[in-house]
Amino acid sequence: MDRAKQSKLVADWEHLERIFIRPEDDDCKEILVKYMEQILFGLHDFINRHVGVTEAISLKELTEHFRDTLINPEPEKRLAEVISDIISYIAPRAVNVASPYFVGHMTAAIPFFMVHLKAIVAALNQNVIKLETSKVLSVLEKQVLAKIHRLIYASNQGDKDKIGLANAFYDNHVQNADTSLGSFTTGGTTANLTALWVARNQFFKPFDKKDGYVGNFEGVESEGVSEALLAYSLDRAVVLVSKRGHFSLKKAGGILGIGNKNVIPVELDAQHRLDVKSLDRTIKEIGGRRAGIIAVVGVAGATETGIVDPLDDIADVCKEHGVHFHVDAAWGGPVMLSSKYCHKLKGIERSDSVTIDGHKQFFMPMTCGMVFFRDPLAMNSIAYYSNYVNRQGSVDLGIKTLEGSREANSLILDSALKIMGSKGYALMIDHGIETAKEFAQEIKKRELFELITEPELNILTYRMVPAKLQESLKIADKIANLDQKRAINSQIDEINILIQREQREAGKSFVSRTKMNYKYLDNHEIVVLRSVIMNPMTNMTILNEVLNEQERILELLEQVTT
Ligand SMILES: *Cc1c(COP(=O)(O)O)cnc(C)c1O
Repeated sequence: MDRAKQSKLVADWEHLERIFIRPEDDDCKEILVKYMEQILFGLHDFINRHVGVTEAISLKELTEHFRDTLINPEPEKRLAEVISDIISYIAPRAVNVASPYFVGHMTAAIPFFMVHLKAIVAALNQNVIKLETSKVLSVLEKQVLAKIHRLIYASNQGDKDKIGLANAFYDNHVQNADTSLGSFTTGGTTANLTALWVARNQFFKPFDKKDGYVGNFEGVESEGVSEALLAYSLDRAVVLVSKRGHFSLKKAGGILGIGNKNVIPVELDAQHRLDVKSLDRTIKEIGGRRAGIIAVVGVAGATETGIVDPLDDIADVCKEHGVHFHVDAAWGGPVMLSSKYCHKLKGIERSDSVTIDGHKQFFMPMTCGMVFFRDPLAMNSIAYYSNYVNRQGSVDLGIKTLEGSREANSLILDSALKIMGSKGYALMIDHGIETAKEFAQEIKKRELFELITEPELNILTYRMVPAKLQESLKIADKIANLDQKRAINSQIDEINILIQREQREAGKSFVSRTKMNYKYLDNHEIVVLRSVIMNPMTNMTILNEVLNEQERILELLEQVTT
């Protein structure tokens, strides 16, 4: 590059035009094309070569390099240099979540075409808040939402009459401007929030006259929670959810003004599923104490264990008590696409609302969530209008969404469903579930490992227990000394924390860790390792290597301590 040209970086109108419209010069174009070609046509190679390859740098060191708090008045770098910096400095220090050895979180490799679709969505830059900035993409969004809604609520209908009814229903609603089958959101958190927002507003709905209340009640959305409790003669409003419910539900409790301590955890059964008897008991108990139950949440694929709550039984309880039934299927939702395993979500079709994440098992790029409502009028309770967008009577999607401006994520999902078909998705879902099952068998076979939760879907938890501590546990067990058992388990906790950390720092593979109630310890919590098998390239050879590495780390730890 010519030096004189390089030194002349100024912010003036001439340069701005060139930056805004096309690459600055041919050198720049060459670099852009080079990397974009690698990303678009060899994504997985590109990631392996460039992402997460520099592990040695500590977080502390890293923060030292990012302490610049001034914005330069003049441009500092050309576009080509910025891209080169990203590739040479940022990408190597990012995390290679696409590695098949990265089995610790719900973020993993995505099919390469997702990047193309995301680029097109960015290029079109449509805003689906309103028709005026999106047109066909608003229409497309309604179609995709109807497809997933139908998958949830009308897919298991063999006989002709039911198919006819479903056809008529979806024909009526797919492009109906007055009804909504759901909406796209930024993620599972905002999808859950939207579902509970609707449930709260439907629970505290407006009324004209009632004994014991002076005047009209305009609904909780306009009058607030304290007035709503007064109007409905209640002391508090609650949401009931399995102890393994995602923390976003607590957040929703806070934001919706019912208080996050009123998002009440229900006890689990021996299989770590929500215990329906406890649910029923809790409903009866708190109902008698002037508590209004806004919703019961069943989890379909708990974040920590992958466990699915007994949705059918929860639906029975909700029906009996007339309570809104929400299913948080942020993780497990796409299992419905697998004809082999869709039965695991049986009962979801009886829910009032459902959360599904696009950026989890639909393998979409960040960020995409969805929320669905059985009743196409349910979302009317969260409608907001304004004079410049979302006018009354318009079809603007932004009328009934938590988010304002939104990208056209529906284009990515719609295209992906066409490229993969439900069977293509099912291949990946089945692979995850079946590999997790094999992985569990392997863990059970190995002396130094203990499986803590069986993988109902594709998540499992386990821990390592050194031989010496296994012996100590046996002795403590015999004399039934709970304190002693807890003390030994604390030691085991420490070891598992170290193993997880060492493995992560070594940088080849990654499992996460969390805490789990332990039945042999009077439900005292223990530290467990957590694996999420979603990458279709993760196989037993790789998982055996992950376990071998953990055994080696334990061996080294024991050498150090003895
Ligand atoms: C991931 C997850 C969420 C939260 O979703 P985000 O997309 O991270 O906001 C909620 N519930 C469950 C069960 C999840 O697995």
